[in-house]
Amino acid sequence: MHLVIIGNGITGVTCALTVRRLHPDARITLVSDESPYHISRPALMYTYMGHIRPQDLKPYGDWFWPENSLELVQATATHIEAEHHLVHLSTGAPLAYDKLLVATGSVSRFERWPGQELQGVQGLYGLQDLERMHRETHGVGQAVVVGGGLIGVELAEMLHSRGIAVTMLVRDTHYWGSVLPPEEAALVNRQLQAHHIHMHYSTELAEILGDSAGRVRAVRTTDGREIACQWVGLATGVTPNLSLAQASGLETARGILVNEHLQTNQPDVYAAGDCAQHRQTGLGQVPVEQLWYTGRQQGETVAYAICGQPQAYQRGVWFNSAKFFQLEYQTYGQVPARTPSGTHSFCWQHPNGQLLLRINFWADDNHAVTGMNTLGIRQRHDVWDQWLRQGTPVTQVLAELGAANFDPEFFQQHEAAIVGQFNEQFPQHPVALKRRKGLFSFGA
Ligand SMILES: Cc1cc2nc3c(=O)[nH]c(=O)nc-3n(C[C@H](O)[C@H](O)[C@H](O)COP(=O)(O)OP(=O)(O)OC[C@H]3O[C@@H](n4cnc5c(N)ncnc54)[C@H](O)[C@@H]3O)c2cc1C
Repeated sequence: MHLVIIGNGITGVTCALTVRRLHPDARITLVSDESPYHISRPALMYTYMGHIRPQDLKPYGDWFWPENSLELVQATATHIEAEHHLVHLSTGAPLAYDKLLVATGSVSRFERWPGQELQGVQGLYGLQDLERMHRETHGVGQAVVVGGGLIGVELAEMLHSRGIAVTMLVRDTHYWGSVLPPEEAALVNRQLQAHHIHMHYSTELAEILGDSAGRVRAVRTTDGREIACQWVGLATGVTPNLSLAQASGLETARGILVNEHLQTNQPDVYAAGDCAQHRQTGLGQVPVEQLWYTGRQQGETVAYAICGQPQAYQRGVWFNSAKFFQLEYQTYGQVPARTPSGTHSFCWQHPNGQLLLRINFWADDNHAVTGMNTLGIRQRHDVWDQWLRQGTPVTQVLAELGAANFDPEFFQQHEAAIVGQFNEQFPQHPVALKRRKGLFSFGA
């Protein structure tokens, strides 16, 4: 069996490694136009900031690939001839496959602003973007970042690390308004302001202005303000990379349409990771998942299907984590920006404005937890995953919260305040605080 994988991101590589384990004799070829070697996309920012060396972006040493009989090809796949089981490459002769995985990831999404082709205007997705950013921010004093999501903050932190003054334009009334509840957004905003990032909310980009040499000199906002800058980062989201799929007759909507085994509409052609769109989704699931861990899970699922041991894709409990400068963020389960009807939302914040814990739970008799957010506090994945899967009552979760904590001292310091606030807000579900063996613990 010859498996050809287009894209060597986390999805493609996870699939390759899983197939190697399930099918030791398979021939496996990974094709990528970004880099012959797999790189960690979330780590890109740390090379710009000088925290890691460029070679540290590679999670596996160069010896790893021949050692595991994985063939690497650097080329762009231009067209799939599904009826002949061939994929055409920019470098010449087509590759014949028995099974093909399209794992082409995402591309930055821009809105066709006037001036976005100027020198010094770009997004951040891949290695080439990072190299361009290295070159084009050299000597820059002022930059504008458009968009208030995770990549927007990464760009702000990267620029800030080089002493570049950053202005962020955010369409929403508060930071990442489509995802974060207002309390979390306010806390992140304070963090951004503490790092002297100039935040302009309810503000949209109208135009990017250039100088006579074709380089950006300013941006104009829709309310008519002109902000001088020598570099603009466009962080207005990503969209599935469909170039290959659309050139090859794969059925697409927002992403490449796949069934629960990640099969496309073409025989022996699969799609997974950021570029795929589930035809059917369960409750609380999204059709296009653009995260590192979902790429890994989909890479595993598709490997089982390719090896003739299909297992329907199950994402499990949603989670994500990020860092806003020094502020760590974790989210598990469902915590939308607005509390959904039928659920309660308990939100505790430390008076220092740097710690936040939110727990959402059903407003019925069972009051099972439905999701949680933390800022400045680290929780254990396995514990929350179990609580959410099992629909654990909020009172029990609060009673056992110490078990989820990475920092054992945290709850000794703050538990009384957290439980006190919970009991004030929800007197119908009291949590009793007990002292045991010199350590605080909670009992429902
Ligand atoms: C700057 C940044 C930071 C991020 N940080 C986080 C984070 O902290 N946590 C998190 O969960 N997620 C994060 N993400 C998202 C995460 O990186 C993606 O969800 C993940 O990389 C998707 O993996 P993938 O394998 O599906 O696609 P990709 O990683 O995009 O890999 C696809 C590869 O296919 C190549 N390719 C595309 N088309 C072709 C073609 N026709 N021929 C050959 N090669 C092709 C691309 O060049 C690319 O190398 C971040 C994303 C970015 C951009």
